[in-house]
Amino acid sequence: MDASEFRASAREMIDIVTDYLENIRERPVFPDVTPGYLRQMLPPRAPDEGETWDEVKNDLERVIMSGVNHWQSPNFYAYFPTGNSYPSMLGSMLTDGISTLCFSWNSCPVGTELEVTMMNWLADMIGLPDAFHFHPGGKGGGALQGSASEATLIALLSARNVTLLNLKEKDPALTTGQIIDRLVAYTSEEGHSSVQRAALYGLVEMRILPVDDKGALRGPVLKAAIEKDIGAGLVPFFVCATIGSTGTCASDDLSELGPICNQFDIWLHVDAAYAGSACICPEFRYLLNGIQHVTSFNFDPHKWLRVNFECSAMWVKDTSLISDGHQVSPVYLKDKKGNNNNIPEFRHWQVPLGRRFRSLKVWFVLRMFGVKKLQDLIRKDVALAKLFEECVKKDERFEMVREVTLGLASFRLKGDNDVNERLVAKINLDRRIHLVPSKIKETFFLRFAICAVDAQASDVTYAWGVIQELADAITPVVKG
Ligand code: PLP
Repeated sequence: MDASEFRASAREMIDIVTDYLENIRERPVFPDVTPGYLRQMLPPRAPDEGETWDEVKNDLERVIMSGVNHWQSPNFYAYFPTGNSYPSMLGSMLTDGISTLCFSWNSCPVGTELEVTMMNWLADMIGLPDAFHFHPGGKGGGALQGSASEATLIALLSARNVTLLNLKEKDPALTTGQIIDRLVAYTSEEGHSSVQRAALYGLVEMRILPVDDKGALRGPVLKAAIEKDIGAGLVPFFVCATIGSTGTCASDDLSELGPICNQFDIWLHVDAAYAGSACICPEFRYLLNGIQHVTSFNFDPHKWLRVNFECSAMWVKDTSLISDGHQVSPVYLKDKKGNNNNIPEFRHWQVPLGRRFRSLKVWFVLRMFGVKKLQDLIRKDVALAKLFEECVKKDERFEMVREVTLGLASFRLKGDNDVNERLVAKINLDRRIHLVPSKIKETFFLRFAICAVDAQASDVTYAWGVIQELADAITPVVKG
């Protein structure tokens, strides 16, 4: 493909994408395929000779679209939203066109400097204290990670490193293995699976602590666990609190957990992957009460801030706690220019060396939406989740699992887990709407997350109608 062919086919591609999004309602949200279906449709080997754009384009509907789960459909209520918007797509397109890597100032000066500014813009938008912002000569700052899971892993590995250094300084005879064997991390039973995965990669013990009836990990529970472990000769070193849990959007109280972590010199990381975006609205900033006690904080603009995957914003009050633990600097990567000007080297914040120019799409989104429009969109989604909650409360066959706080409603049919498992299976087999279940303690329930950018009240009432209709076939079992 040469430049003129690219110009022509790229214009067609813009039409394909725009038509897709404009007409997405007409597609069944979940594809009618079974595992392994694609093997029958594709040749076993790559072509020896290149094919034309037309040949590839003609296969898009048959091969690709037939297997897409349409996350941008107004009938999609599963997981959490995955950000999408025209401004973000424009930014991504330019990122791919430039194809630069942004691991140091030298590797792409604007990549580093725009990221620094976007991290400050985002920090300001959600009301993070000044200590987390980049300032010349200051300690705080942040980076755009690929995902919340990576942010948690990096936080845990950095906390592990800090603890190793501290303990070895006190007792140089201790080996790394002896220390790691004694390290303990904590999260709650509502914490995301990626938190437990971070502990697996970090080779440390992780305690999964019980939550209260609102889904929050409480201070006394954490403190008792820490004291018990210290009493057993172990070393508590890391807590991952959750703001906006995946199951029910429950949040831990940072003003309760923070002072305990500070008292025991424990790294407190906050996973606000979904809910963090809501903090651009002042009325939701109460979720961050106590944030001044926190070591590191993360949320995903790629979930609820209209930025396309991948884009996860992570801040730390002292950036050296992260970057010092990941320093391996061969001559070809040493970046004297950046260092001299107090500019971060983002390669020290992550596992890979290469980094996408992620801040570009953030810049497009923040400039072209503006904060007020983004606030409106968050408020719209919260109102839709509350509308769904009202519907649930009016039907006596159903119950809410928790009150709606943001854009997620967690609900269930009254009765045992079995009827709820049957309901979710029916809904997803029916394919008019799509959602996923969850389980807390032994209670199985359904999650209804407002995901589509332009979801409307009529979409929510339509979805509720589908759920009621499918429940009709099950409710006699409940009533009986
Ligand atoms: N943390 C929470 C609370 C989540 O809900 C999710 C995903 O839904 C994650 C972390 C993982 O996010 P990511 O895909 O950015 O790793």
